[in-house]
Amino acid sequence: MDKVYLTWWQIDRAIFALADRLREYKPDVIVGVARGGLIPAVRLSHILGDLEVKVIDVKFYKDIEERMEKPLITIPLHGSLEGKKVVIVDDVSDTGKTLEVVIEEVKKAGASEVKVACLSMKPWTKVVPDFYVFRTDKWIVFPWEEFPVVVRE
Ligand code: 5GP
Repeated sequence: MDKVYLTWWQIDRAIFALADRLREYKPDVIVGVARGGLIPAVRLSHILGDLEVKVIDVKFYKDIEERMEKPLITIPLHGSLEGKKVVIVDDVSDTGKTLEVVIEEVKKAGASEVKVACLSMKPWTKVVPDFYVFRTDKWIVFPWEEFPVVVRE
């Protein structure tokens, strides 16, 4: 599968674009999906005025394009979301199966309204985020997934 590499600069611009949309929605809580959604979730929390961030961890991929049978919640949501307006933040909606599970968990926790914000989406996803910036059919490599080669003397 072809890959597309995003830079920190592109990501930060995308996060600010999401923040503009979220200012209109006015969420009470951000639910960040580990691991890929955590950096955008924390950044959005600061930009939007120290919004509360809750974390859920869902495992679905073993490797590029190698998925498990179904997404598995490895860190469940902590506490109640009773009556809260929630935005779920993730890096990418690919099959959409992870987001399906997370949306269900957020609703079970009592949220009054749920929206999804992702940096990117794949054209075939079954969960099109309410807010997203990039659309691609390639495998995305995010800047936090890369690291420089350290040369030791
Ligand atoms: P889904 O359940 O929508 O198929 O995939 C959800 C998760 O799989 C994403 O949150 C992300 O962590 C990972 N994932 C899916 N597609 C990509 C991709 O193109 N690049 C990266 N880096 N992760 C991906």
